[in-house]
Amino acid sequence: MIRSWIKSGAARVMSRTGLDRLAGSLSGARAVPLVINYHRIVEDFANSAKTSIPAMLVSRSMLEKHLDWLGRRFRFISLDELGARLEGKDGREDPVAAITFDDGYRDFYEHALPVLKRKGVPAAVFVVTDLVGTRRVQVHDRLYLLLARRFSPGGGAPGPFEVTRLLLETLPQGEIEKVIESLEVEVPIPEDSYRPFYSLTWEMLDEIHRAGVTIGSHTRSHVQMTNESRERVMEEAAGSRKAIEGRLGLSVIHFAYPSGYFNTAAVDAVATAGYKFAYTTCTHYDAMRPLLTVPRVPLWENSCSDSRGMFSESILSCQINRAFDLVSGCRQHHTATKENGHARS
Ligand SMILES: [Zn+2]
Ligand SMILES: [Zn+2]
Repeated sequence: MIRSWIKSGAARVMSRTGLDRLAGSLSGARAVPLVINYHRIVEDFANSAKTSIPAMLVSRSMLEKHLDWLGRRFRFISLDELGARLEGKDGREDPVAAITFDDGYRDFYEHALPVLKRKGVPAAVFVVTDLVGTRRVQVHDRLYLLLARRFSPGGGAPGPFEVTRLLLETLPQGEIEKVIESLEVEVPIPEDSYRPFYSLTWEMLDEIHRAGVTIGSHTRSHVQMTNESRERVMEEAAGSRKAIEGRLGLSVIHFAYPSGYFNTAAVDAVATAGYKFAYTTCTHYDAMRPLLTVPRVPLWENSCSDSRGMFSESILSCQINRAFDLVSGCRQHHTATKENGHARS
């Protein structure tokens, strides 16, 4: 509560005085166009947050508030237009923003697409191709759901989100599957509980694409690329591109690293697989291949809420300027090699 009050107060002062932009440049943000990153879009945040990682959710009404605020300050562009801007080919300098949605949840079709169409906002969806059109659920969602049922946090013990994050950060997906299997024996989850996490179908993706939304790749099975073998990373990057191109008959040039995790091997694989642009969630980048490490700003329901839980324009302004990165920046090491640059170095 105190933290949230300080955040609201600091955000108000920073955005009024322009300090948010200064703090953003001190925290190392590169001068690249704004790219926003959402995950699931739901009707009722509080209800969905009972079973889902809260930071992956935004309600349709909050999404509209974000888009309205951004639309008054930026011209929305597609990822292809963003690519042209990044390559210095569009010859313009006006403030632009691109909107992206990761993981390819079915709720994009149900809740986000109608809003985007109505407002005329271009967007991109990054899909996990092995899950498209199946009832299989993302590893992070299954793990979180099981841990939330298995453990009731208290007494300073880490909660289901902290444990989920720790496991995803450290273990290869094969090991996480084993943890999930043993948890499933302990706490059986009815099939219906997994329904909100289903992915889009190929038919929906075809319709979404025809509505003007860019379809990008987010690997075959949402592996954290920094935890897997070189072969697996290569197969995840190349296989997902091939699947989308084969099923939808389009050219896929945009890729998003699952959870924003990348290292030199991941960037190599993405380059070899033929992508032209790849997106992270932090401001670190590969100095040799900056177009394959384009930063995005992740937003969710409460990322721009004040201490009373109300939408705060000044906090959104701080978020897009990455003003909070100074105190809560990226935890990844990106296997620091000479190739890996930082925005300020
Ligand atoms: Zn993801
Ligand atoms: Zn980073």
